[in-house]
Amino acid sequence: VVPMRLQRFLARAGVASRRGSEALMSAGRVSVNGEVKTELGTKVDPAIDQVAVDGVPVVLGVGAAYLMLNKPAGVLTTMSDPHGRPCVADIMPVRSYPGLFPVGRLDMDTTGLLLFTTDGDLGHALLHPSRHVWKTYVAVVDGVCREGDLEPLRRGIVLDDGPCQPARCALRDERDVRDIAPRGLRAGTTAVRIEIREGRKNQVKRMLSKIGHPVLRLHRLRFGPLELNDLPCGSWRELTPTEVAALQ
Ligand code: URA
Repeated sequence: VVPMRLQRFLARAGVASRRGSEALMSAGRVSVNGEVKTELGTKVDPAIDQVAVDGVPVVLGVGAAYLMLNKPAGVLTTMSDPHGRPCVADIMPVRSYPGLFPVGRLDMDTTGLLLFTTDGDLGHALLHPSRHVWKTYVAVVDGVCREGDLEPLRRGIVLDDGPCQPARCALRDERDVRDIAPRGLRAGTTAVRIEIREGRKNQVKRMLSKIGHPVLRLHRLRFGPLELNDLPCGSWRELTPTEVAALQ
C-alpha cells in the first residue's frame, strides 16, 4: 500500500489544486480519521484513512477516473475510427467518463491490460520514457524456443530503430497461457513471458521475431503495478484507490 501526501490526495480527488488543498489544510478544514491535520507533510493511505473537508468525506476517484480494460482481439486502441472498425470506445463507458483516453496502445490483435484515465498529467507521465514502467506480456511464439534463445533479449537486442533495453524473459508452460490458449499449446509453439520498459511500435513482436520466433498471440498481464488477474476478456473495471495510489 502506497501512502501519499494529503494535499496530493485532495488534488487527485478533485477537491482543489495542490496549492488550494494546502490552503484548506492550513485553515484547519481537513481531517484524517477525525483529527484535524494542518501539517503539509501529513501522509495518508487512501485504502485505509478517512479524509474529510469541513467534515464531508472525500474519496479518491471523484475527480479523475482510472479504469482498466481486458482488451479483446480485433479492437483498435483508439477512441474513434474513420473506417468504422471496432475500437475501445465501443466497449468503454465513455459517456460516464468524459475525456477518458487509453494510456499507450495495444495492437489490434493483442489482448490484455489497457489502462484508461481522464488524468492527462498522469497518462502522459506514465508514457514518458523516463518513467520506465515495466509491462509484462505472455506470448505464444512459433517454433520450439529454448532457454538460451532468450539470451539476446536479456542482453538488449538491436532492432531496426535501435537497441532495446534489456528485457526480463522466461519460458512458460501451458498453465500460464490458459487465457490465450485455452485448449493448450499447439505442437511446435512455445509460451514466453517477457517484460519490457519501453513501448516502441510492435516492440515485443519485433523482438521475438528477431530471435527467430514470430509471435502468434500476445497478451499483456501487467502494466507497472497493475495486474489483470481474473478480469474477463472484454470487461473493464475502475481501479481501486490503492491501485491509483500505486500509479502516482
Ligand atoms: N508489443 C507489441 O508488439 N504489440 C503490442 O500490442 C504490445 C507490445
